[in-house]
Parts: sequence; C-alpha cells; structure tokens
Amino acid sequence: MSKIIQLSAHLADLIAAGEVVERPASVVKELFENAVDAGATAVTVEIKNGGLTLIRVVDNGSGIASDDVARAFLRHATSKIATEADLEAIGTLGFRGEALAAISSVSRVELETRTEDESDGTRAVLDGGDIISIEPAARPRGTTISVRDLFFNTPARQKFMKTDRAEAAAVLQTVIRLALSRPDITVRYIRDGEEELRTPGDGSTEACVYSALGREFSAGMLPLTLENEGVTARGFISKVEALRGNRNYQFFFVNGRCIRSKTLQAALEQAYRNRMFTGRFPSCVIYLETGASRLDVNVHPSKTEIKFLFEKHVFDAVHYGALSALDGTETPRETAYHPPVERGTDFAVKSPVVGTYRPAPRDVNRGLRYEPPAAPSPRFYPEPDAQVAIETPKTPDFRVVGEAMRTYIIVESGETLWLIDKHAAHERVHFDRLRSESPNPMPQSLLEPIIITPEDAETLLDSAELLTSLGFEVEDFGGGKLAVRQIPSDIEPAETESVLSEICTELGRGGDFSARRDEILASVACKAAIKSGKNSGEQELYELAGRVMRGEVRFCPHGRPVAVDITKTFIDKNFKRI
Ligand code: ADP
Ligand code: MG
Repeated sequence: MSKIIQLSAHLADLIAAGEVVERPASVVKELFENAVDAGATAVTVEIKNGGLTLIRVVDNGSGIASDDVARAFLRHATSKIATEADLEAIGTLGFRGEALAAISSVSRVELETRTEDESDGTRAVLDGGDIISIEPAARPRGTTISVRDLFFNTPARQKFMKTDRAEAAAVLQTVIRLALSRPDITVRYIRDGEEELRTPGDGSTEACVYSALGREFSAGMLPLTLENEGVTARGFISKVEALRGNRNYQFFFVNGRCIRSKTLQAALEQAYRNRMFTGRFPSCVIYLETGASRLDVNVHPSKTEIKFLFEKHVFDAVHYGALSALDGTETPRETAYHPPVERGTDFAVKSPVVGTYRPAPRDVNRGLRYEPPAAPSPRFYPEPDAQVAIETPKTPDFRVVGEAMRTYIIVESGETLWLIDKHAAHERVHFDRLRSESPNPMPQSLLEPIIITPEDAETLLDSAELLTSLGFEVEDFGGGKLAVRQIPSDIEPAETESVLSEICTELGRGGDFSARRDEILASVACKAAIKSGKNSGEQELYELAGRVMRGEVRFCPHGRPVAVDITKTFIDKNFKRI
C-alpha cells in the first residue's frame, strides 16, 4: 500500500503561509511591497487590533486586470518573472508569487482593484483561500486589499500572537522601514483610527527620515555619501554624541529593499571603533544602489537577507563612507573587511579602494537641519553644500589663553572658546601614531631586563608574537616571572608592569585580533600621554591645541571628545546681553 500522497494546494498554501505570514507585520510588508511593485506613489496602511481584526493597504498603483484577479491568489502566480533568466536580475520586491496565496489561505480577504484601461474595476471576496465572489466594482485606479481575521483557521498560529499592542508595535516598525525604503512614496499609517505616521513622499531622504524617525533622531545624524566600485552608498549615520544602547535604528536598504546584514553592520560599526564606548551602537539609514545582477535576493523566504556577489565592495562603500562622514580626514587604508569564513572566495579578490571621498565639513555639531514645514506643502530646506576638497586643513587662527586645573587647555578662536582635555588629546595623538607605525611601534631596548610577576605569565608568553608586534620582547624567567627586554619607546620603563597587565586582560577577552590590537595600543597610548594634573609647557600646549583646531584629533581612543566649545552667543546669552 502506498503511503505517499501529494498535498492539496490548500495544504501547501497553509504550509507556505507559516513561512511568509508569521504575524500581522509580515502581511503588511508583503502587501506594501506589492503596492510598490505596482508603481504606487501613495500607500496607506491601516490596522485594527494589532492587525488581527483588520489590515488594509490602499495604493494608487497599476491595479490588477479583472481576468487576472483570480489568478493572483494562486500559489506561484506572479507577473514579475517569467523565465529562469529573470531570476538573475530581479528588479521588483516580489517575485515568488506566494504572498497573496499564503495570506488569503489564513484570513478573510477582500480585494478591490482597477487598472487604467478598464472602465470597471473588480471586487473579489475570499474566505480561507476559497473564492466566494468576483464581481465588477467602481473605484479609482489602484488596489485596496483588506485582510480580516488573520489566522482564524490556524488556531495554533493564533496562540503565538502577542498582545494587540505588541503586534501594532511590530507593524509600526515594519511601516517605518518600508516608508524609509522609498522616500518618493507618500506613506500613511493609521492604527485604530489614529494616524501614527505620514511621510511627504517628495523624494527627499532628509524629510523622510525626519517624518519617520523624528526630530531628535534626525538631529543626531550626519550625511554620508560614497561611490565605490559600482556601489553607491548614501544616507545618514549617527554622530558620535548620538549613539544608542542597541542596534534597533540601523537601517540598510539595498536597491530599495530593507535588509539585515552582518557585513554591513560590521562595516558601519568598525568605522566607530575608537570613537565609542563598548555597549553603544551607531544608528544609520543607508541606501545602497548596485547592479541587480550583483545581488542574489532569492536566499530567504521573506527576502530580508540577500547575498552580494562582491561583498567587499559593499563593505568598503559603507565603511569608508562612514569614516569619511565622521571626520572627513580618513584616507583609504587597508580594508578592515574580513570575509565571513563560510562563504566562497568571490570577494576575497583584493582590489584597491577607489572611492570618491567627500569629506564632511569640519563642523562637528552639524546634523540634519531638516525642520518640518509649517506650510501644508512639505518642503525640505537643504543644508549648505557639504562638499569641500580633500586638502591639508589649514590651522585656524587661535590663541592659547592658558591652562585650567592643570587639565584643560583654554583656547580662543574667533567667536569661540575651546576647552581641550590635554590628556585625552595627547592620548589620541599617540594612538594614531602607534597605529600608523606599521608594522611595529618603535621599540626601546632596556639595558637591564625588567623582571615582572604578572598574574597570567602563560597568556603573555603564548602571545609573544603579538607582543613583539607591539614593541615588547618578553622571555620566560621561570617561577611565573617574565623578563622584559624591550618596550615601546612611548612608555616609561616604570609603566611596563601595568601596561603588560592591561594587555593580559585584553588578551583574555578574545574577539578579533585587529580590535584587540587597537585596544592594546590604546592602553599604551594612555600610559604615554601627558597626565592631567601635570604642568605643561607653553610649546606643548600650542602643539596640542593646533592639532585639535586643525581637526586632526577629535576623540580619544575610547571615544570621548577631546574638546568642548563655548560660543560667544552662549556666553552673551548667559550674561543676558542678548
Ligand atoms: P509576487 O509579488 O511575488 O508576484 P504576490 O502573491 O504578492 O506575488 O502577488 C501576485 C501578483 O498579484 C503580483 O505578481 C501582481 O501581478 C499582482 N498584485 C498583487 N498585489 C498587487 C497590487 N497592490 N497592485 C497591482 N498588482 C498586484
Ligand atoms: Mg508580492
């Protein structure tokens, strides 16, 4: 007796629905993407009770021809691809022909649609995937799809639904992503009768980010733009002062599709290394554009992950774009990109980085200056032209007024007073120099070896090679002791033991080597830097202040700012002069 049967189309749809339709937010995503693929310029999303009672998406796109309506609900029915070759370069968000079949199999759907050419539109009603009626209906061009009673026939899935509020919150996050993905589309989101979001849809990314994520978020962002090997990256990244405790606000869009990518996340975060504390994360809204044939979007059922053919190019576009935006002085170094081991060798090919670097102006406090329009018609007021040439920055006129508390250098420059943390600034100077002394920081041989008893001599001995690359030479002295014969020239012999003990702690942490090397160099730099509390000579103060004023030094290796400015306006205001 044979035991194998082919599943009915309905059962196959229910199984597929498990993947595609996880919760109301996933329905919203699929319906919105259909509207975008239909060329809509305005999309309204409405939900009731977290989307479990109703999800309605209204668009002004192409509509569906009346004789295509029934077919649109069949599994693997799509107008977006027809041949194998089409899969190689997908230009639409959808292509699997699964969403409408899956959604309608687990809900009650009503669809109203009309194309430009037809005088009458069509209205279709389905219940659990069964077509109840299809009839003509008058309506403007476009499509309205209402999904009611989601999961009414799959109680197991229904049990997994969170509270209405939690589902609505997930829908909002999805709508924000979708709205950000297309600044050229007017997006409205209505929850239980209240409008929660509206973007102007005038194509301005600034206005879109402002409307979707708010004033405070926008004020904390810097513009980014870079072209690298056929990849264009543009968008916004956090100022160092506006980092968050999580990654919830990292948005990456590739050819208009919002995706998750560890590679892009690393590309962004590595640009902030030495500018941020551990446990803080940059936010971003980054739009990447590249040829459709350089991507494989068919690797994930909900299409939120994609494969890049030349992953390194994409990494570099984001990484150097971010470095460039953050301080405008970084020139391409050896890429920090490390291809994930499990992938092939496609992107292991080394190619020089030939980005078009557009350094940001040197105003550290600049953000998105978008202000919402007071007039009803949304209008974006652009910032002054952000482009400046890459040339050696001039030292602005400045005068060292003095030193306060043996810690802060007071500098006057134009209408601004600067307070410079001399230790932090000096630490950064050392750090940058140590990092650029490739391969090794300059070592000094000791006349007499220093004998130390570290907590973990084994770890240090195991890492002798790493220590050599940092300018140390250590030998086993027996009895848990080490003989240190050479140290980096920046540190005093008396500091040897404490630096090596910090290195030992760093080594115990694991993680990738280049990050550890930076951490270690940072502790060497810290030891080498002039200490607060020490008097400094005038020349030393001028030298440091000059570097800060030229913008060469802005953050200490741990991410703290090295200078704080006080404007004349601020002072005048406090004296009530203005
Ligand atoms: P896919 O988007 O992968 O093609 P769907 O099941 O989401 O599959 O949609 C099936 C087809 O129905 C689409 O290919 C498209 O032709 C049509 N369609 C769905 N939604 C809309 C819409 N809002 N406007 C116009 N056509 C639509
Ligand atoms: Mg679709």
